[in-house]
Amino acid sequence: MTETVLLVGGGGREHAIARALADDAALYACASNRNPGIAALADGFETADERDADAIVAYAEDVGADLAVIGPESALEAGVADALDEAGVYTFGPRADEARIETDKAFQRRFMDDHDVPGNPDFATFDDAEAAADYVAEYDGDVAVKPVGLTGGKGVRVTGDQLTTEAAVDYILDAEWDEWVIEERLVGEEFTVQAFVADGEVRTTPAVQDHKRAYEGDEGPNTGGMGSYTDTGLTLPFMDEGDYDAAVDVIEAVVDALPEYKGVLYGQFMLTAEGPKVVEFNARFGDPEAMNTLPVLETPFLDVLTAARDGDSLPELDFSGEATVCKYAVPAGYPVEPDAGARIEVDESSVGDALLFYASVDQREDGLYTTTSRSFAVVGHGDSIADAEADAEAALSMVDEGFHVRHDIGTADLVQSRVDHMAELRG
Ligand code: AMP
Repeated sequence: MTETVLLVGGGGREHAIARALADDAALYACASNRNPGIAALADGFETADERDADAIVAYAEDVGADLAVIGPESALEAGVADALDEAGVYTFGPRADEARIETDKAFQRRFMDDHDVPGNPDFATFDDAEAAADYVAEYDGDVAVKPVGLTGGKGVRVTGDQLTTEAAVDYILDAEWDEWVIEERLVGEEFTVQAFVADGEVRTTPAVQDHKRAYEGDEGPNTGGMGSYTDTGLTLPFMDEGDYDAAVDVIEAVVDALPEYKGVLYGQFMLTAEGPKVVEFNARFGDPEAMNTLPVLETPFLDVLTAARDGDSLPELDFSGEATVCKYAVPAGYPVEPDAGARIEVDESSVGDALLFYASVDQREDGLYTTTSRSFAVVGHGDSIADAEADAEAALSMVDEGFHVRHDIGTADLVQSRVDHMAELRG
């Protein structure tokens, strides 16, 4: 029997999910922008707000969905998984209550304390900005200041790295939010481990390193992520298997404390001199990280979804063993003053062996347009990070000056600087 799967979301992450499912399932998609990559793979595409649970349930019923997969955190926060589950459509994505592990950063830190999840940094939570600002001014050391709610990865500021203590105090007092988490600044190298979770079972995927800063050399404002890479095994060049295993222990401790959790659980870690510490959790695939992980997953993603739905043990995962490098093309001026609404041409035939994933672009009758967010990504793959990087760069030859790309992602120099940084920290 062919499964009918509804996919919610219209970014690069969801294009990667669509690609992983399209050969095995009848696929329908629902998103606020018409993503041409998803639309080409799907049997149907409905334009609807990803937070509009009623519209999404109506579409799921219309197409006779047996299963649903939710890409964006905004949909989880709005209770779209709850609504689909209640309508009898098994949804691979946590209910809003469990998604608080991502959507409420104060909850996330307290939850880690309450359940003895390892890797929690020193933190304090505040529900008024003045108290948060006073705490930062008096804190002995550098801090990360975080609005409690979702900000698309762009609300966090880190002293000693991006700004001074005084500027962090002003940032808090001038910002639109009242609720804050202030935590000790973690120093090291960041990596992500994403896991498929259902019925208390956990299946982890290769570690990924994302690049949040907008410009080359890790300069400029934070973004949703400019690109990312994986190596041929589960680890990255600056970490060892023990570090990966410690990250898996953290994810398993979370799942032990959330036995009903289903979907992807994403752990963001800082590998410090003392081992991995938790930067945050996400309740869904990362974007870009899904574009690294799903193309090398050889186990059909549909088998994971049906096992989760049917209460069967999740399959053990097989991976191709290729390294990947993902680089995003974003509108000029992103993220501060993105050139939205610009008409663009993307030459799909010139990407060669690499993969092309459309993101926040909108297909209208007269062509393809940028939005305020990232436009498309290319993912190179090969027997080494260097091969994958060369593959991605060859595919980017079609990108014109209307876009910005971080060409340094995945290069030998940048990867080596991460290895050197970690070696220095570990002494
Ligand atoms: P988050 O939204 O919590 O992932 O934070 C966004 C980015 O801010 C992370 O990817 C890190 O680069 C940085 N960050 C967050 N928390 C900390 C921390 N405690 N120490 C240092 N950097 C952090």
